[in-house]
Order: sequence, then structure tokens, then C-alpha cells
Amino acid sequence: MSQDLSRYHRQMLIPGFGEEGQRKLLGSKVLVLGCGALGTVIANLLARAGVGHLVVVDRDFIELTNLQRQVLFDEQDVTDAIPKAEAARRKIAKINSQVKVTAVIDDVNHTNIEKLAEGCDAIVDGVDNFETRFLANDCAVKHGLPYIYGGAVGTVGMTYAILPHTERGDSPWEQAGAATPCLRCIFEQAPPPGMNPTCETAGVLSPAVSIISSYEVNETLKVLTGNWSAVCPTMLSIDIWANTVKQFKVKRAYDVGECACCKKRNFEHLAGLLSSATTTLCGRNAVQLSQPKDAAAPKLDFEELAQRLRAHGPVTASKFMLRADIKDNGAEYELTLFTDGRAIVKGTKEPNTAKSIYAKYVGA
Ligand SMILES: [Zn+2]
Repeated sequence: MSQDLSRYHRQMLIPGFGEEGQRKLLGSKVLVLGCGALGTVIANLLARAGVGHLVVVDRDFIELTNLQRQVLFDEQDVTDAIPKAEAARRKIAKINSQVKVTAVIDDVNHTNIEKLAEGCDAIVDGVDNFETRFLANDCAVKHGLPYIYGGAVGTVGMTYAILPHTERGDSPWEQAGAATPCLRCIFEQAPPPGMNPTCETAGVLSPAVSIISSYEVNETLKVLTGNWSAVCPTMLSIDIWANTVKQFKVKRAYDVGECACCKKRNFEHLAGLLSSATTTLCGRNAVQLSQPKDAAAPKLDFEELAQRLRAHGPVTASKFMLRADIKDNGAEYELTLFTDGRAIVKGTKEPNTAKSIYAKYVGA
């Protein structure tokens, strides 16, 4: 079946692209991890470019403070309390109906990332924490998938396209001599919590996010069209306030290092050895609680729970989630429960406070 490509005319004029490149994009599947500041730009541009299938994963819902930089969302989404992944799917359907979007409302963790990446041609990073990035890096190296890292906070952003060394060394990018160090070759381990500036403490300027995520898309388009030699081999750091652009030559990190991931093929993050069950959310006075994925565990009964929680304050429920305002010992919390058993407790940054609120009002 021949598809009408006329809407992509302007990008097909780019050298190295052409009709062949466009057809490769239409036949590609990309995993977009996170649909916040970076992820909305990534999903938006990849959909407009005609990448055939996007798997968009995000655990969160849309808030008013997101709209300053999360370009796929609007005020109605905030009013309707739509999860980000689902809102992205709806918007993209209006932008480019040729693109299939699989919206996944879930936390990305070691139990599901390999399934999410199944059949994908690349993983693109729109997350806000290094734990998930190392997980994505493990998954990319293990399965021989390009992984495009990106992050931005304050006025500074970094990005780097990883074309991993594979077990058999027979990937097209290795044959083209374009393989790169992986994320763990460069950063041995995640910086400890509290050592990193977050969007909440340092703020974030939207152009920093747009530039970095656009750059990630740029490298992804090269990857998907097989333009291996055009992929940037350096790690890029941009400070849009200080007007500085730095390129870090990282190639030697693989040559001289003893990387646990891409050299020893020891996937500790994927094995769940380094994961945590609670996460303080970047840019939010909130903690996420993950429940172990146990098929035998009973599903939460939202109706019953809504009735019970109404005694403590207003409750809203949809097919995606239940949200309750709770006054507890003079403090106010907003409790959001998702159908997959996750919970976000807003009003605290303390994992233990969040756990006790959950235990008290939902149950252990
Ligand atoms: Zn490595």
C-alpha cells in the first residue's frame, strides 16, 4: 500500500532523508519515556515528522504549573485531570492521524521497561531522574537499541545519543563505525538524591527544555533513517542564560573504562537490584508510592474507596484515577490513586509521611 507522503515534502528535501528516509520513519516505532517538559516536545515533533508508532509512557497527570513548558497540554486538560500520556495521545491524533500512539499510564521500572521497548527502534529520554535513565541505558544496551539521553533543569540542558556496543557487534551503527560509550561508561552511578538540582529548587526555563528535546528529536531522526555518521558523537551541554555551548568528547570512556553495563554486560538496574519503591517527584511537593506488581493482588475498588474518602474531603474519580483531598492532623494532602495501584501523595516530600497517609486512608 502506498501512502501519500505530500505532508512531509519539506523534510524529504533534506539531504540524507528523501522518500526512502520518510518511509523508514513511517515504519518506525519509538519508546518515549516520560511525557512532561521534554517528552511533550519529543512526542510532538516525532509525530509531526511521521514516525509511525509512538509508545508514550508517563505516570503523572497534568497540573497548571506544567503548561509553562509542556507544549502538548492546555487548561482544559488541567480541569479534566487527564493523565499526561492519554492527553498526548488525544492531541497527537489531531496533529497527525497517520501516527499510532500507544498511551501507557504507568511508572517506568525494571519490571516493565523491556516489554515497553519491545519492537521499538529507539528509546528517547524525557524523564526527570537518573534511576530511570540507567534503567533505559541497561535496556538499550541489552537489546541493542539506540538510546537518546536528554535532561534540562534551570537554564542548563544536556543531551547525548547512545549507539550501544552490542553483544555480537553486528548492529548497523557498529558496522558504520559509529558506536558510542553508554551512559554508564560516562556516569558510573546516579548522583545521590539531594545532590541534584531539581525543577522544584532550581526552576526551569522552557527554552532550555525545548532546545534539548528538539536536539534529541534531531538525533532520533538521524538514527531512524540510518544516517549513522551524522549522529553527534559528543555529549552536548547548553546553558541558555550564560550563552555557552560545550561539547564533551566521550569516546575514550568506552575504550579505557571497564563499564559494568556495555562491557561486562551486567544489567544491575534491569535486574531491579538498584531500584526504589518510593520516589520524590521532581518539581512537585509530592511522593509516588509504587506497589509490587502482583497479579494476585486485589484491584482497588474505586467506588467503595470514594465513598469512604468523602468523609475526609472532596473526591473526584474517573476511569483513570481517583483523587481525594485529605485533612490530616492540620496538614492538607492530595491523594491520587491510579488503577495500576500506584499512588501520588501531594503535600509532602517525605516518603514516610506519604506511606503513612496511604496506609491510613487506603490501607496497607
Ligand atoms: Zn558502557
